Amino acid sequence: MANNRTYTDAIIIHGTKLSSLEELHRLHLNQGIRSESGPTGFHYIIHPDGGLRTGRAIEEIGAHSRGYNEHSVGIVLVGRRAGLQPYTPTAMRVLLGLTRDLQERYYATRPHIVGHSQFSSHDCPGFDVEAWAHTKGLQCKSLLLAS
Ligand SMILES: [Zn+2]
Repeated sequence: MANNRTYTDAIIIHGTKLSSLEELHRLHLNQGIRSESGPTGFHYIIHPDGGLRTGRAIEEIGAHSRGYNEHSVGIVLVGRRAGLQPYTPTAMRVLLGLTRDLQERYYATRPHIVGHSQFSSHDCPGFDVEAWAHTKGLQCKSLLLAS
């Protein structure tokens, strides 16, 4: 693979009102985002019914967080709703399992769980990822130090 990460110290959570992986693929194709393993810039896509789909190959550098792609995994929750709980409980359970698995997989570099909005002006994913991660006992910090 041409474009793999050499280390992974962040797991970045995103959210979108788009309703499916297929819609994301279309959007990313329109933006010119593509890779050997598929057109989306995210590594994982979580649907409201709890369906977990893979996008870009896990070791490949993603295209989801400018300046941070080279050392992070990108997860997106689709089907964002208005309000303080924009994603279904089922989707949040899948997110929790996935982030735990990823923290284990990349244990050596101790990846932190962060929301996209922690280092960008985007209101993404639309909930307080740091607070959520703390209540679930996940390791996180409010800002990434490296870029
Ligand atoms: Zn985002």
